[in-house]
Amino acid sequence: MYEKFEVFENFFSYKRERGGKPARHKYIFRFILLFITLIFLYECSGGIPDDILASASSPTLRPNKFPDETPTERIYYDGMAVLTFRYTKEDIGNIPEEEWGNVEIRFHIEAVDSEHGNPADNVVNGNYTALVNGTIQTIPRPVGRLSYYTTTLSPGQKEVSVEYIASDVSGVYKIVGEAYYRGELKGKKDVVVEVKIPDLVEFSRVGYDSSNNMIWRFGGETQFHTRNNYVQQRVGLALANLLNKIKSVYAENNQGDNGFIVRITDASLPWGGMFWIGYTKNENLTIQRVDGYGNYYDITYRAGIDNRIYAPPHREHRDGRHIDISVYSDDGNGGIDMSRHLEEGDLRDAIMESGGYFSVYDEITHYHLTCSLGENYYY
Ligand SMILES: [Zn+2]
Repeated sequence: MYEKFEVFENFFSYKRERGGKPARHKYIFRFILLFITLIFLYECSGGIPDDILASASSPTLRPNKFPDETPTERIYYDGMAVLTFRYTKEDIGNIPEEEWGNVEIRFHIEAVDSEHGNPADNVVNGNYTALVNGTIQTIPRPVGRLSYYTTTLSPGQKEVSVEYIASDVSGVYKIVGEAYYRGELKGKKDVVVEVKIPDLVEFSRVGYDSSNNMIWRFGGETQFHTRNNYVQQRVGLALANLLNKIKSVYAENNQGDNGFIVRITDASLPWGGMFWIGYTKNENLTIQRVDGYGNYYDITYRAGIDNRIYAPPHREHRDGRHIDISVYSDDGNGGIDMSRHLEEGDLRDAIMESGGYFSVYDEITHYHLTCSLGENYYY
């Protein structure tokens, strides 16, 4: 196994996304620091301080699967979390305790990737519209949903818990709990949550063999997202093996032609989740969703007009196990070389000769590969 790592080291950038090992160490370190701070505060004040922020613990959740082209909704055990918001007297405007029954907590969800970078590559640049409840509007980001959106405090009640069901679109989300007293905003607390498939690694966009012949080239990036080349680590190792084998099997069956370059079109986003592409399609697609305030809306992507932002075609490609490769060779510059066609039989031979770790689905312009070595997050 270690040898394999060395052989393929150059095929990966090994850039771990947040949530990978270094980040986890940092997290543990922060946790220890927080713990020490709490003990210190406890010792100093003779009790747990009132102003512990709700955001002291921010969970990482798996992207769920809401209905899209398929009617199935999947909510995963690690795709939801109960978030606790703690309010101090100051947070609710120092009103007398007997008045707390008139304090309403209103929750909502925001996507905050731009404040926290764009780690999942899910921030859309540009204004893309579709029909939202029948009128042309900017396409909203699906942000997940809450178990409820408003509640009222009781006198003396300082904590409120709400369940967050993670979005199907990976990214950074903030759940905000605003405290209103007789309709007036007095203060708010928030929890930031990362929605992601953990530990995906970047697969090199271009690969060469030891003689410096190009073996593969990644294409398929669009103006909507450029980082479509993330996979689970074990999948990446198997994929590198397979791509080498495709090139040699092609040469064997085509008079020694060593010029085939596997043209990979899509894998997964850096944080996985819904793999949106922004294509237009030639039929309408209507999806019912819920906005960050709990309101249901219908969104219709019109045929040939609206880019499908935050909407499939790709139902899969969500967890770093799925890779699309073109039926044609790349020309070495990102174009298609239609004089070199990869026969399905050759692909299947290459799969068998490299360990048999992939299943193939012929999608006419490309082969959709699924790696059996990866962890299947979407049953
Ligand atoms: Zn595919």
